[in-house]
Amino acid sequence: MSKTFDLGILCGKFLAMKDHSTNVSENIFMGIKNGQIAYVGGENKKGDCAEFVDATGKLVMPGLVNAHAHLPMHLFRGLADDEPFDVWLWKNILPLEAKLLSPEFVRLGTELSLLEAISFGITSIYDMYYFEDEIADVCDKAGMRALLGENFSSFPAPDDKDQKGNDLKIIEKMLEKYGTTHERIRPMISPHAPYTCTDEKLKAARDLALKTGLHIGVHVSETKGEQETSFKEFKKSPVQRFHDLGLSDAPCLYAHCVHVSDEDIALMKQKNVRVSHNPEANMKLGAGAAPVPKMLKAGLKVGIGTDSVASNNDFNLWKEMDFAAKLAKLSNSDNTAMTANDALKLATSLGAQAMGFDTTGQLREGFLADFLILDIEKVYLKPVHSIPSLLVYSANGSEVESTYCQGRLLYNKGSFKTLDRDSIISRSEKYIKEKF
Ligand SMILES: [Zn+2]
Repeated sequence: MSKTFDLGILCGKFLAMKDHSTNVSENIFMGIKNGQIAYVGGENKKGDCAEFVDATGKLVMPGLVNAHAHLPMHLFRGLADDEPFDVWLWKNILPLEAKLLSPEFVRLGTELSLLEAISFGITSIYDMYYFEDEIADVCDKAGMRALLGENFSSFPAPDDKDQKGNDLKIIEKMLEKYGTTHERIRPMISPHAPYTCTDEKLKAARDLALKTGLHIGVHVSETKGEQETSFKEFKKSPVQRFHDLGLSDAPCLYAHCVHVSDEDIALMKQKNVRVSHNPEANMKLGAGAAPVPKMLKAGLKVGIGTDSVASNNDFNLWKEMDFAAKLAKLSNSDNTAMTANDALKLATSLGAQAMGFDTTGQLREGFLADFLILDIEKVYLKPVHSIPSLLVYSANGSEVESTYCQGRLLYNKGSFKTLDRDSIISRSEKYIKEKF
């Protein structure tokens, strides 16, 4: 006879993030059926489980949400570090992409990036890149939850060199395969940035999004230079331009938003634009500090992203939470500007809402079972006064013992269940040696 639960976890400590609360309960049983959380409570229902995991002495919490990334760029880690932003982008990254990008490149880079993401407890990712259908396939097979934004720009992209609409074909292909309501894999339209898209291209993205129900993901107001150019060319900020063009009439996720004004934030709120905050990449590229406390106060849904490993240089969302809180404190000269509780929300419950994955990011009945088991018996996590404080300011990611996405085990104690670690690393090293 089939059991009530496919999987049951007895949790020593339990951080549900229910309704964004960071309260921690103890001795909680979580039962999972068909990838969904079917029971959360004090009664141990071990006998009703096909599989049972004893996590007494451990912490169980939601999987982390990486709200902005470029997965295949893992193959560029450490390249042209510390160059000025324009030199880094225009003289290094873009020419290399023009030379190397292929389905083989993006599949390999994505596999490499997912090893890191999964080992750091990331269960949802928003990606923006080229050959996005290939990236979607790798994410799907790896068991990840992902938003896949095909690059949609007005310059000859590596997967649309002649500008004949191959970007559109890739989006259509993904749409046909996954639709708009797939639980884990959701295609998206990603105009690269205000400075790489003409008004016509942005309007085409808007029309396509409104017609198909796809969401839009785009870089916005990352640098001061971008802001200045926009005022010079269009007499308005990028956010105002997107608003006036009707881009934000479609559901939008804006990445960066470093140089946004109070008026920009009000426009974004008006259209329910969601935001991905990328503190570490913004610091490393000298872009500045996004006014996240103001955005949160305005009621915007904000998540945290790593951006690409070429500009970060890792997928460690634990560090990203730490940086998010400290950068807000530093840039506002106010140590209450962002708390550990706020940072945790950005990386879990609120970040999931920013991604549009509304039934993830919280461990509660009816939600999808994306969760982590953490070993918190580390010397640097003692004593325990506050779990949120430990997770944001003291943890380093090595605490992640198990990563589950939709009830499926992806990673356990250093072992990957859906990806071949050794093969991916040796193929990446061979590729770098031969092609770079
Ligand atoms: Zn980016």
